[in-house]
Amino acid sequence: MGIVPDDRAADLMAVQQAAPDITDTFVDLHIHIGRTEKGAPVKISGSKELTFYNIAREASERKGIGVVGIIDCHSPTVQEEIEHYLDRGEMVEQEGGGIRYRDTSVLLGSEIEVKDPGMGAAHLLAYLPTLSAMKSLTAWMRRYMKNVELSSQRIYVTARELQEEVIGRGGLFIPAHIFTPHKGAYGSAADKLAELLELDGVSAVELGLSADTEMASYISELDPFPFVTNSDAHSLAKIGREYNRMALAAPTFAEVALALKNQEGRRITANFGLNPRLGKYHRTYCSSCESIIDEESVSVVRCPYCGDPRIVRGVMDRILSIADRSELRIDPHRPPYIFQVPLEFIPGLGPKKMGLLLDRFGTEMNILHRATESELAAVVGEEIASYIVRAREGRLNLNTGGGGKYGRVID
Ligand SMILES: [Zn+2]
Ligand SMILES: [Zn+2]
Repeated sequence: MGIVPDDRAADLMAVQQAAPDITDTFVDLHIHIGRTEKGAPVKISGSKELTFYNIAREASERKGIGVVGIIDCHSPTVQEEIEHYLDRGEMVEQEGGGIRYRDTSVLLGSEIEVKDPGMGAAHLLAYLPTLSAMKSLTAWMRRYMKNVELSSQRIYVTARELQEEVIGRGGLFIPAHIFTPHKGAYGSAADKLAELLELDGVSAVELGLSADTEMASYISELDPFPFVTNSDAHSLAKIGREYNRMALAAPTFAEVALALKNQEGRRITANFGLNPRLGKYHRTYCSSCESIIDEESVSVVRCPYCGDPRIVRGVMDRILSIADRSELRIDPHRPPYIFQVPLEFIPGLGPKKMGLLLDRFGTEMNILHRATESELAAVVGEEIASYIVRAREGRLNLNTGGGGKYGRVID
């Protein structure tokens, strides 16, 4: 046994104290509020159970997600609810930003619709470090919005003006589900993000349920930006159907901001998303003969089966039409995109068996990522255990989604 000289020992201790403990944290940044606690609508198509409190509790107790972004926190009534939980001490505003409830932190966010002249509509996500910053954004937004209580409302300013207001308040700014025909920046608004936004003020882009890292890498404009994968949940069950894994020293706004910039050891370590083939808008869909056009050909203007021009353009087809790379080149520094089949897609796994799994393993993240096949089989039998493990390893076969229908597990 050697003796460490005193000054070296002191150095070592200083290093240990300075280096923060960076751990893997699951992060889902796009969750809607359906109703206020008094029952007033926020996201009209969202579930009644989606209140601010219920989302925090579901993420902490059942999902095992360390950071959730709730993107209807611009609503003044929701802000009153947050204040109520802060006053009672059930939730705490954290030093580095975000609201802490038990094992989960909530980042305060807002999804806002813009429509610049000559372009289609686009959804943009803004996140602010503190409740007071979010209230200040609300005070500004309500001057340009018809009803600031509701979710995803159109704001009557340009995308750049909105971006400036968010960045000026120390916020993060992320174009939502960028490729979807329904209000994605590329899917609906423009062929280039630079037409809509200042690229310097874009913190990340959200891929959306029908796209993955490989597909997005066909567009060189996206090279500088991290990709995030989020659930866009409209019900409690859908929280975490897509999510990110980040290396963070604490579940705070400041740490997530560092991870998006890939600084000080904070980073996105993986994206977990649906196989894009499961997404509702993956391929072009013919509403006349109801077939999904899963062909190599890109420039479809009519259904190749029945000739009808009433087709719903798929995300894959949209990407190929604006791609400026003919050969795929994924930046080796990008985190892996891991296909994840949500537990609700697993054949035979109903609420009762799900309850047994949660009793045994605590959270969905533990079931998805940590339980072994034999541990799973001991609770729900070999068949379901094998589905879960094959899904985890990307070995489940799926058919293709399109035109608003999800693909399905076929094996
Ligand atoms: Zn949206
Ligand atoms: Zn949304």
